[in-house]
Amino acid sequence: MPIIEFDNVAFTYNAGMEGEVKAVSGVSFSIEEGEFVALVGHNGSGKSTVARLMNGLLLPDVGAVRVDGMSTADKKHLFDIRKTVGVVFQNPDNQMIATIIEDDVAFGPENLGLPPAEIRARVDWALDAVGMSDHKRGTPFRLSGGQKQRVAIAGVLAIRPRVMVLDEATAMLDPKGRDEVMRVVTALNREHKMTVVMITHFMEEAAAADRIIVMKDGGILQNKYASVNGVGTMDEVFGRTAEIRAAGLELPLPSRIADKLRRDGVPLPGGILTDAALTEALCRLR
Ligand code: ADP
Ligand code: MG
Repeated sequence: MPIIEFDNVAFTYNAGMEGEVKAVSGVSFSIEEGEFVALVGHNGSGKSTVARLMNGLLLPDVGAVRVDGMSTADKKHLFDIRKTVGVVFQNPDNQMIATIIEDDVAFGPENLGLPPAEIRARVDWALDAVGMSDHKRGTPFRLSGGQKQRVAIAGVLAIRPRVMVLDEATAMLDPKGRDEVMRVVTALNREHKMTVVMITHFMEEAAAADRIIVMKDGGILQNKYASVNGVGTMDEVFGRTAEIRAAGLELPLPSRIADKLRRDGVPLPGGILTDAALTEALCRLR
């Protein structure tokens, strides 16, 4: 059973009222436990709406969203769904509640009504997982953006969700902060087998995922890529340069450089996504 399943989902903001916006429609995809999926798309393509639908913050008007088989529309599952899917948002400052870092991270498990020893164990584990243990008695306000976002991730981790959704969680960070967050997220997926849904407009970050879902105008770019429901692998997706551009997205920088070199007659192979792959391909030319 998939951990996340969207079955022909539609959602409209302000339905039937002034300011009605059909945000997503006909969206179907599923995510298996342990996957690292990137969700990309132009501004307003519906990514955040999908994120909010994933943990029951929004409920579908049409179709169904299931988390570990539980429909988000079924009120009796909402608590379990919120425990299963944790969401990290864009602005870390809006996600900080307490003035001491470890208290901030403890907020989620406290709300679950866990015993103090269990809360402490979870806070220590979560701060360790994001590499922020040394700061636990400090205040979040003096941290860099990357550090703050790692604390926000620890706060979600302390709830021990099986799925972590990051909604443009790196968008406000500098390259170093982005890199810190990416390392943490990748390690959570690889070492802790956590399911990760990374919503990003940085294609370099998307290229780190196992799979990519491209959204456009409230839908998934359906059946364009092999595999199911318009969901394809990294090489398939990035191999379709023109379609990526049409979706309002930029290829990762190494892919753009490789494309340019290819047009200039340099015989490079396709599917170059990372600095390492580009370097290797260039070295082979000699
Ligand atoms: P993305 O995250 O890809 O930028 P969103 O899911 O935020 O896209 O938005 C999808 C569409 O829904 C956009 O047209 C956006 O303007 C609209 N929208 C998003 N949030 C709201 C809201 N709270 N009220 C009304 N319209 C909204
Ligand atoms: Mg968004």
